Amino acid sequence: MSVEQAPVQRADFDQVMVPNYAPAAFIPVRGEGSRVWDQAGRELIDFAGGIAVNVLGHAHPALVGALTEQANKLWHVSNVFTNEPALRLAHKLIDATFAERVFFCNSGAEANEAAFKLARRVAFDRFGSEKYEIIAALNSFHGRTLFTVNVGGQSKYSDGFGPKITGITHVPFNDLEALKAAVSDKTCAVVLEPIQGEGGVLPAELAYLQGARDLCDANNALLVFDEVQTGMGRSGHLFAYQHYGVVPDILTSAKSLGGGFPIAAMLTREDLAKHLVVGTHGTTYGGNPLACAVAEAVIDVINTPEVLAGVNAKHDLFKARLEQIGKQYGIFTQVRGMGLLLGCVLSDAFKGKAKDVFNAAEKENLMILQAGPDVVRFAPSLVVEDADITEGLDRFERAVKTLTQA
Ligand SMILES: *Cc1c(COP(=O)(O)O)cnc(C)c1O
Repeated sequence: MSVEQAPVQRADFDQVMVPNYAPAAFIPVRGEGSRVWDQAGRELIDFAGGIAVNVLGHAHPALVGALTEQANKLWHVSNVFTNEPALRLAHKLIDATFAERVFFCNSGAEANEAAFKLARRVAFDRFGSEKYEIIAALNSFHGRTLFTVNVGGQSKYSDGFGPKITGITHVPFNDLEALKAAVSDKTCAVVLEPIQGEGGVLPAELAYLQGARDLCDANNALLVFDEVQTGMGRSGHLFAYQHYGVVPDILTSAKSLGGGFPIAAMLTREDLAKHLVVGTHGTTYGGNPLACAVAEAVIDVINTPEVLAGVNAKHDLFKARLEQIGKQYGIFTQVRGMGLLLGCVLSDAFKGKAKDVFNAAEKENLMILQAGPDVVRFAPSLVVEDADITEGLDRFERAVKTLTQA
């Protein structure tokens, strides 16, 4: 028997929610693959992917199956007990990466919090209390807890919350000389996104990541890759570090890891993991059976040559068409990114207008993203149908045409 529910509208948001978000005017109610329907029954094509989360689109049968099967078995037991989905998922992540140990949590910020605490603890145990500095990149994004927002290189997110966490230095991204000048024997970790996501879909240069690796080794510092946005197939490899061939000491994953179910992980080696002894860190929901069962299904589907090759093929489809649109309407100077994380850099005439592009796309029944005010971002499902790509980019072109001829 279904319970009568009071109707809610977008206007309710402003009455009942803390105003830290400004959601779009429509409310999505249902999704299937790369299509989404709103309250009014309008159908949209989804190139936003819940901000690089819905890695298999909406209502993927493998994920629905894993979730419902687990839902009928066991939801939660806490970390006083372990559980089968968590152990199986950990094995799968270890088999597929450099990692030997896994810590599960619930969000990207939480995975990074664990990574930064681990880096500080390792340095403390091995070298004493003076080695705690973290070097991060300007324009980087690592989450919104106080520690992670302070490590992130965007002061607009970290200012105005009282005293900052000390021992964090920011250097320009892709500038190896600046990194060299900042790293010292007080550095416990260098933290980088292989592709800066929120900062504008800006890929690291290979020599930069290699140089960061060497600097960390020379200074007994750990290299942390934040792959919350770039991981789980997004780059065309399971993790972007595998594309570069530069192996971090700690890697964080979230967003696509659960395909829409909240889960995150910190991956590392055994010699580092052993510093987080019993009682040093934890989180109630970490390794939750429901979340881990879904993530297991995600990795099973994603980590196959067919899906990963498909990401690269779909990248080419997107890139060619976006470059054509960029040229034809003079709106982009560059289309960059890897796999199905693409950023279109707005030309001078449209600088600061990424939100206008977002709004124009919505009018054409297309969901896209921005990455800051100057970059239009695409982070669709990795299995988005080629026909949906074509139809979605037709809609995008109409939006751009309207906007540029306004
Ligand atoms: C989204 C993101 C985070 C934060 O993840 P949450 O789940 O929102 O806490 C951290 N790092 C990167 C690179 C991200 O893109």
